[in-house]
Amino acid sequence: MNLRVEFTGEKIIIHTEKKTVEYQLGTITCMISAGEWDELLQFLEAQKDYKNLEKYATNFLDKCFYGREKISKINGYMLCDSELNLCNKNYISNKKVSGRMIQRKADLVVSDIYLIDSLIDLINLEMMYAVINDMPINKCKNCNKYFVAGNAAALFCDRLYTEDKTCKQFGGKKSFVDKLKKDEALLRYEKVYQATYYRLRKAETQAEIDALNKRLEDLKNWRVKYKNGEIKAKPFIEFVEGYGWMKKER
Ligand SMILES: [Zn+2]
Repeated sequence: MNLRVEFTGEKIIIHTEKKTVEYQLGTITCMISAGEWDELLQFLEAQKDYKNLEKYATNFLDKCFYGREKISKINGYMLCDSELNLCNKNYISNKKVSGRMIQRKADLVVSDIYLIDSLIDLINLEMMYAVINDMPINKCKNCNKYFVAGNAAALFCDRLYTEDKTCKQFGGKKSFVDKLKKDEALLRYEKVYQATYYRLRKAETQAEIDALNKRLEDLKNWRVKYKNGEIKAKPFIEFVEGYGWMKKER
């Protein structure tokens, strides 16, 4: 696979043997992270390691853009850089200057062009330019997929969520319901955690102590996953309430 990738302003332009496509900067990595291969494979080739690429893209987005409001652009870049070791890679680029006359003034645009042969390189470069250009890449509050937002405060993406509604159209209502559910789930978690902790303090045998410590560890891990949106409220509550865990371990 040989790709000619061009970065110009807030755009990424990909030239392949098949065709030339143009997207907003960050879109390709968001699509890879979301596993949207139907569209991607129309102009890219992936060597079947879809899952790895999805993970790689998601990790990058998590590091550079999730909770981005808390970190400055340069910190975001340093974080990406140290995490993913961009520095060890030297990418060679060519510059292209194109111009047009607007009201008798030359309007010049400089683009950077790279020749690359892997999707990992494509993700690295796109993310680097997305960070430098401070692209508003957010995680959709409805489907949890990353998207390039029209503005930095946008919460929902434009993907179709139901047959006829996008996350944006569907989102407001659902996030309210989710919030209620979430509170409920966390309330139940708190109760179970307290009860388990109390039992640990009263525990007498080493086997019981070990089992309860393990249980507390598991609970905490699940809480993190739930807070990150990796698991939904229902399975979370089912795990927390343990389906008779307390009885079984006696
Ligand atoms: Zn969405």
